Amino acid sequence: MNYVIVDRGDRLSKELAAKFHTLAEARGLKRNDEKPEMIISIGGDGTLLQAFHTYVDRVEDVAFIGVHTGHLGFFADWKAEELEELVCMMAESEPSIVRYPLAEIVLDTTEGLSTYTALNEFTLKGVDNTIVAQIDINDELFEMFRGDGIVVSTPSGSTAYNKSLGGAVIHPSIESLQIAEIASINNRVYRTLGSSVVLPQHHHCDIISRKDQRLQLTFDHLNITRNDIRSIRCSVSSRKVSFARYRPFPFWTRVREAFLGYEVK
Ligand code: NAD
Repeated sequence: MNYVIVDRGDRLSKELAAKFHTLAEARGLKRNDEKPEMIISIGGDGTLLQAFHTYVDRVEDVAFIGVHTGHLGFFADWKAEELEELVCMMAESEPSIVRYPLAEIVLDTTEGLSTYTALNEFTLKGVDNTIVAQIDINDELFEMFRGDGIVVSTPSGSTAYNKSLGGAVIHPSIESLQIAEIASINNRVYRTLGSSVVLPQHHHCDIISRKDQRLQLTFDHLNITRNDIRSIRCSVSSRKVSFARYRPFPFWTRVREAFLGYEVK
């Protein structure tokens, strides 16, 4: 099996990466930065997002494993002291693969169309002011938004920024996107539903922003600023991300442990 490590860059993560390479070599696992089959992220959830975007073009050919160096992450379930056990399982057993939905975002700008993929979410904010945008669902006007921003999250991202905005937590087996508002202004001109909206896999939404705005677009942890956006189409991607599980890591256990703190004895 070929693997690559993406580490957070701090001393502990680098030490763990070096230890992993030594253990892996002894077990016959091959390091391959160009065409890995398994991508090991060592750090936190942010490191896994970074690993995802580094290998996004090969997302259908790879599976991710997360090792955390701090608290249990949503994407990282292996502890630093379990590296030997992980390498042993990678060498000796077949993982089960879970596949989670992704968001596809197509920007229509004066330069043409460009496509982005997000594992957690796509966020739109104004650089100078609040943003003004028409939101269409399935090519029909849904609402006129004015406010701080809009977050369109995947089920995996529903526990991240979306949750801070009061959005629902969605199980990743439900192929969907959730649109959540950031501080919408409601009056007679701009009126939004106020609650978050969940779109199924075969629906899409378009965010048509007023032309004279500088917008900050964020795909997971990556930011760009543009002032030439005509519209933004968000839909469930036809591609999925795969996570390799050598032991169970149920979604609701993660939610319970991360947010409620209860551990089953
Ligand atoms: P980071 O790695 O410090 O992540 C920020 C926090 O979000 C961490 O505590 C991380 O564990 C948590 N997180 C990331 N993905 C998660 C998920 N799927 N479920 C639950 N928690 C998750 O910072 P970064 O590298 O910039 O990460 C970007 C992420 O930060 C974005 O994808 C966004 O979801 C999140 N974020 C959250 C808020 C907020 O909640 N107010 C604001 C901005 C960004």
